[in-house]
Amino acid sequence: MDNFEYTANPARVVFGSGTIKKIPEELARAKVSKPFLLSTPQQVGHLDLLKGILGSDAVAGSFAEATMHTPVEVTERALAQLRASGADCIVSIGGGSTVGLGKALSVRAGLFHLTVPTTYAGSEVTPILGETDGGRKTTRADPAILPRAVVYDVDLTLTLPAALTATSGVNAIAHAVEALYARNRNPVINLLAQEGVRALASALPALAADPASRAARSEALYGAWLSGTCLGSVGMSVHHKLCHTLGGSFGLPHAETHTAVLPHALAYNAPRVPGALAALAAALPDGDGDAIAGLNALLRKLNVERSLRAFGMKEEDIDKAADIAVSNPYWNPRPIEREPIRELIRRAWAGEEARADL
Ligand code: NAD
Repeated sequence: MDNFEYTANPARVVFGSGTIKKIPEELARAKVSKPFLLSTPQQVGHLDLLKGILGSDAVAGSFAEATMHTPVEVTERALAQLRASGADCIVSIGGGSTVGLGKALSVRAGLFHLTVPTTYAGSEVTPILGETDGGRKTTRADPAILPRAVVYDVDLTLTLPAALTATSGVNAIAHAVEALYARNRNPVINLLAQEGVRALASALPALAADPASRAARSEALYGAWLSGTCLGSVGMSVHHKLCHTLGGSFGLPHAETHTAVLPHALAYNAPRVPGALAALAAALPDGDGDAIAGLNALLRKLNVERSLRAFGMKEEDIDKAADIAVSNPYWNPRPIEREPIRELIRRAWAGEEARADL
């Protein structure tokens, strides 16, 4: 066995159906009692559900304007309301955007943060925060950013629209894929990554056929937790850097971009990551032992949009994206070379199937 280092992130996880009702118990366990609640405008219904469970007297305040990519001006408005409310903790309920706002507030105010994730993005188990200021996105990692408790309630994911279910699930798979070839990979994270991909690759096609399947919802959320844990534990490579560039520079949607890029990013790294390919091939049932074919087959089954062009990326942006991707050096199992990176981006832009000839 190779040498390795492993650091566990110290969050408490409560998983199941109806678990949102356990939040009062979880807050008491953490010795806090006056929560400030967060959501997006689209999920005020989930916020009302939470208020009903906590009792309106117990809630110090709420803010329902969480926004994608955590703009600092939104955080500052929320922070002023949080401070004025006298809250002693934060409860966020929603996808990565709402979890991000919860992290931005808890790290600024030094308050306990319990989060209830309702997508498969995985932010709830990472000490990472991406924020935008004046249109520029910066990312930092700090143990103080990690939410201290996560309540996964499968019931709340039943309303996740079918298209976002698929792309958010592939976003989670991307964390596990890059964990398998991370520079600081280790045996524990390898196990979580392989099991995360297996669970999601089994659950997502079942959800495409029946979005109301509780069994498949439960398996997908379990896979998302494992894959998010991978993201929070080891470094990410070319796939995440490209998606960050494409999202930040061209305003492309988060989960959809991950979905379009992932098979091509894996194809780019394939010549250098035989161990990761073997682990992925075992977790992806339809590839006949080939991980890239397995991802292609999964995306076909999910019937997701695979072209960045469909999300508004222009052909002339391909060269700009390639320039940004090569101008910012970072570790990747295969060195970053402009021509194959440009071709990777072009294939994702055009929505082609991934091929191992990059
Ligand atoms: P999102 O949080 O922006 O949610 C998309 C939309 O779906 C929102 O309108 C939301 O209210 C709605 N929604 C969420 N759950 C729902 C449900 N169960 N039912 C109905 N509607 C629901 O999308 P996302 O993909 O989860 O998160 C993307 C953001 O998270 C990006 O800003 C990304 O950078 C960030 N992120 C951060 C990390 C990290 O570790 N820091 C990890 C992953 C993603």
